[in-house]
Amino acid sequence: MGVTTGRVEEVYGAKLRDFTTVGIGGAAERMVFPRSLSEVQEILRSERQIGREVRFLGAGSNLLVNDGGVRGTVMCLKKNMGKMIFSPGGSVVAEGGTMLPRFAVLCALSGLSGAEELAGIPGTVGGAVSMNAGAYGRSIGELAEWVEIVDTEGRLARLEARDIRFAYREADFPVRGIVSRVGFRLAFGPSDQAFDRIKTYNEKRRASQPWGSRTFGSTFRNPRTGEKAARLLEQAGMKGVREGDALFSEKHANFLINAGPATAADALRLIERGRKAVRAAAGVELALEVKLWGVFDA
Ligand SMILES: Cc1cc2nc3c(=O)[nH]c(=O)nc-3n(C[C@H](O)[C@H](O)[C@H](O)COP(=O)(O)OP(=O)(O)OC[C@H]3O[C@@H](n4cnc5c(N)ncnc54)[C@H](O)[C@@H]3O)c2cc1C
Repeated sequence: MGVTTGRVEEVYGAKLRDFTTVGIGGAAERMVFPRSLSEVQEILRSERQIGREVRFLGAGSNLLVNDGGVRGTVMCLKKNMGKMIFSPGGSVVAEGGTMLPRFAVLCALSGLSGAEELAGIPGTVGGAVSMNAGAYGRSIGELAEWVEIVDTEGRLARLEARDIRFAYREADFPVRGIVSRVGFRLAFGPSDQAFDRIKTYNEKRRASQPWGSRTFGSTFRNPRTGEKAARLLEQAGMKGVREGDALFSEKHANFLINAGPATAADALRLIERGRKAVRAAAGVELALEVKLWGVFDA
């Protein structure tokens, strides 16, 4: 399947199902795992020159990749760019590939408070900032001071957080590109209290979500009306409903689970079925939270 060649760590034909939490999806034409900011810049510059599209992948925890895979290059920071630097005064700099649970735990260990709510989100800092992930009333955009982006031509930009429009599960950046590093400022707080909060939030998750299953988390966004997508799906009878090997969790109707070797086609049929059921039962049009990669008809 894949080969690693030359200076840049790269794999041709990598199966994206192995790089997504739901475990679905075809191959990427090329996958690269940069080890430094300058490598990120170099790769983006050279891909731009030859006109090859580049996509950005974190932990693949909010992604449904189609069975036919994707053309072009997938750049993944999770493998080699997960360093964190702590400085006096509560400032923390994390590379884009840093996993959020690790980020939250290391902040707590360092006597910093504010990231505990994010400890159970299985994504990277870059992926989370790009869509303003959050939980239990906290979203990552609130904690960021600045965000470093490498644009599609390989140029570096440092954006102040106030120049990014963070909203519910979305972030509007004045520059498009990959989130390579993020600067945070956190409050000081006793470690033991931060760990207690992490434990409480993770217990809440275990009680309400299918912990350990192959899933991409919430399928649909909560509608603007304030209703919860999970509740609407449940009321429309979608809990446990199955298409092929994809099903809506019995525990949390908005979590789509890969219960076998599910295909993207199974997942898409289920998503459409859920959408139709909620439209019919409640007259609400659900919008996707999960990102779709590849060529889709819908
Ligand atoms: C069990 C489970 C629980 C979850 N709970 C929550 C929750 O409580 N709250 C919540 O908000 N989400 C939750 N999620 C969804 C998911 O974890 C988050 O959306 C997370 O922020 C996605 O990060 P990622 O690194 O996995 O991004 P990916 O899934 O890899 O990518 C998602 C999007 O971000 C882009 N992206 C990724 N990395 C970068 C980067 N460095 N620069 C620019 N763009 C990038 C991708 O191109 C893609 O468009 C959950 C998922 C699972 C599986």
